[in-house]
Amino acid sequence: MKKSITILIPAYNEEDVLPALFRRLNKLSDKLKSYNLEFLFVDDGSKDRTLDLLRDAAVRDKRVNFVRLSRNFGKETALKAGIDHLTSDAVIILDADLQDPPELVPKMVKFWQQGFDDVYARRVSRDGESFMKKFTSWGYFKVLKRTTKIPIQEHTGDFRLLDKKCVAALRKLSETNRNTKAFYSWIGFSKKEITYRRQARAAGKTKLRWGTLIKHAIDGITSFTTAPLRFATILGLAISLASFIFILFVVIRTLIHGPDTSGWPSMMSVILFLGGVQLLALGIIGEYVGRIFDETKRRPLYFIEEIHLGKNSRK
Ligand code: UDP
Ligand code: MG
Repeated sequence: MKKSITILIPAYNEEDVLPALFRRLNKLSDKLKSYNLEFLFVDDGSKDRTLDLLRDAAVRDKRVNFVRLSRNFGKETALKAGIDHLTSDAVIILDADLQDPPELVPKMVKFWQQGFDDVYARRVSRDGESFMKKFTSWGYFKVLKRTTKIPIQEHTGDFRLLDKKCVAALRKLSETNRNTKAFYSWIGFSKKEITYRRQARAAGKTKLRWGTLIKHAIDGITSFTTAPLRFATILGLAISLASFIFILFVVIRTLIHGPDTSGWPSMMSVILFLGGVQLLALGIIGEYVGRIFDETKRRPLYFIEEIHLGKNSRK
């Protein structure tokens, strides 16, 4: 029997690129004739014509399936919605904007056939992305690598092929604060790397805002390591030690030279500094407490407004 492969594509306001994407996917399917190929789009609450284009495509081409979420939940949650609806032997996650070239897919499939469960694409260059974005991404991976005990694959994104074993594992991760990139590392399984040049967006503009990127970076770190808490403890210890020595020094000096009322600038600076450190430590703890609060609510991650999966469609 033919093995089945699904291409999973999250899309949020992507009407500009969808036509080009469909063309590229059609070309790709010619190269994968020996598999049952299927496309699963997750419309992440788009406000433009993305949903209409998907509906049309589904009428024309029975390989096109889609899930429409009730609002914009963000790419990470959109991916979870897609993963929850997969039934095929392998999935390939692709951005709608053609930054991940579909032409790489046959190579991924080849390695999958050799027995690898997670064939991920590492970008060796990123065209059309700002310096700040590259820099923050670099810094983020460095911190994550240093502070977590799991091996992290640097410069990789969601562009990868996952065997159904990995999909089953990812489905079980139902946390609210999602950082899928770190999940891939965390679940393990046999990994294989291939490299590619990341293209600039084919059309439209990036949907990920700065705030979201920072949020992801903090989420990624706080959900995989408690190292910042340890950092706060060590900082606190170091400062207490330093201030203890300082106090000894002041007491001894007063005993020898008698009391003096000058010196309030140094006192103020110590007070302000300690206040700042305390706030920092509280902030770090707050990040974790906030995460606990989010997770204890156990809310469903997303709601589906419309779904088209072959015969099992419903509105
Ligand atoms: N995306 C999504 N929901 C969002 C934001 C983005 O499903 O809230 C999708 C988007 O349609 C695209 C992919 O996630 O297919 C990557 O988004 P984008 O290209 O804007 O991010 P970048 O490539 O700049 O990191
Ligand atoms: Mg993009």
